[in-house]
Amino acid sequence: MKAVQVIEYDEPPALVDVPDPQITGPLDVIVKVGGAGVCRTDLHILEGQWAAKSGVVLPYTIGHENAGWVQEVGQAVTHVKVGDPVILHPLVTCGLCRACRAGDDVHCMNSAFPGIDTDGGYAEYLKTTARSVVALDPSLEPASVAALADAGLTAYHAVAKAARTLRPGDRAVVIGAGGLGHIGIQVLRALSPVEIIVIDRSADALALAEELGAEHTLAADGTETERVLELTGGHGAEAVLDFVGEGGAVETGMACLRRNGDYYVIGYGGRLDIPTIDVISTEINFIGNLVGSYNDLSELMVLAARGKVGLHTQRYPLASFQEALDNLSAGAVRGRAILIP
Ligand SMILES: [Zn+2]
Ligand SMILES: [Zn+2]
Repeated sequence: MKAVQVIEYDEPPALVDVPDPQITGPLDVIVKVGGAGVCRTDLHILEGQWAAKSGVVLPYTIGHENAGWVQEVGQAVTHVKVGDPVILHPLVTCGLCRACRAGDDVHCMNSAFPGIDTDGGYAEYLKTTARSVVALDPSLEPASVAALADAGLTAYHAVAKAARTLRPGDRAVVIGAGGLGHIGIQVLRALSPVEIIVIDRSADALALAEELGAEHTLAADGTETERVLELTGGHGAEAVLDFVGEGGAVETGMACLRRNGDYYVIGYGGRLDIPTIDVISTEINFIGNLVGSYNDLSELMVLAARGKVGLHTQRYPLASFQEALDNLSAGAVRGRAILIP
C-alpha cells in the first residue's frame, strides 16, 4: 500500500510503498483510511521535536487523526464488521490496567499511539484494535469527522468536565475560538445552559463564536478583563476554558476567574505563576486536560451525528500531503486539512 513516512527528521516526508498491515491478534482491526487529519503536531514530528519523547524508529507513517471503514477484523472482534464506518480513538490501549478499567484510556499504562510512536493513518490502511474503534452513525462521512479524533476530542474532554459542574446562571469564559476553541464552544452550547463569554484577538473568530451560540464576544485588546468583570457583577466567571495557554492568555484568564472558580488548561506553551496564598484564599482550581477517553469520543460522535458539532475541512489526495503540510505551516488552511487516500 501507499503510505507517507518520515524518513529523516528535518527532511520532507515521502510517499512510499510499504507492506499492508496484517491481523496478528484476535482483537486487531484493520481500517481502510477514509480521512487522516493533518495536524500541527505532524509538523512538530517532522522537525524532530517528538523524537526523544516517542522513541519511534524511522522510517514510520505519521497521522494520528483517523477515520475510515473496517477492512478486516480479528476473530474476537464482534462489535464492528467489515465495511462499517468508524473513527479511531487516537490511542491503542490494553484494557487491563487500572486506568483502562476506570475508562481513563489516555492514562493506559501499556498504550501505543499510531502516528506518534507507531504507524499512523497517512496511508491506505491502518492497524488498531477493537478497543479503539468507535462505530459512526451512517450519516457521518469518515473524512468529515477524522479531525475530531484529536482536536475535537481534546476540546470535548475539557468542556464535558466543565459542563458537569456548571449550572444555569453560571458564566464560562472561553479564551481562544480557533481550531479547538470553536469546537469547544459548540460542545459547551450543546451540553450546558451556561452563559458563554468568548475572548479572541481575531474578529473572524469572534464572529464565528457568535454564530455558534456565544452570548458575548470580546476582542482581546486589553479591555477584555474589565468587560468580563462588568458582565459578571464584578466577581468573574465560574469557569475559564483556556484554549490558548500562552502569550498573556493565562494572566487574562486568572483575572477573569471567580472565587472558587475552575480554570481548565487546554492550550499550552506559557507558564502558570501564582502565589499559593491566592490559591488557598480563593479556593480556585487548575485542571489539566489531555486528549479524551473512548467514551468522550463516542459522545462527541453523538453530537456530530445530531449536527450539534461540525468543523470545516479542506481535502487533499494522499499524494498531495506536502501541499497540505505546507498550507498548514503557512496558516493557509481554513478549518482542518484532511488527506484522502
Ligand atoms: Zn492532532
Ligand atoms: Zn491500559
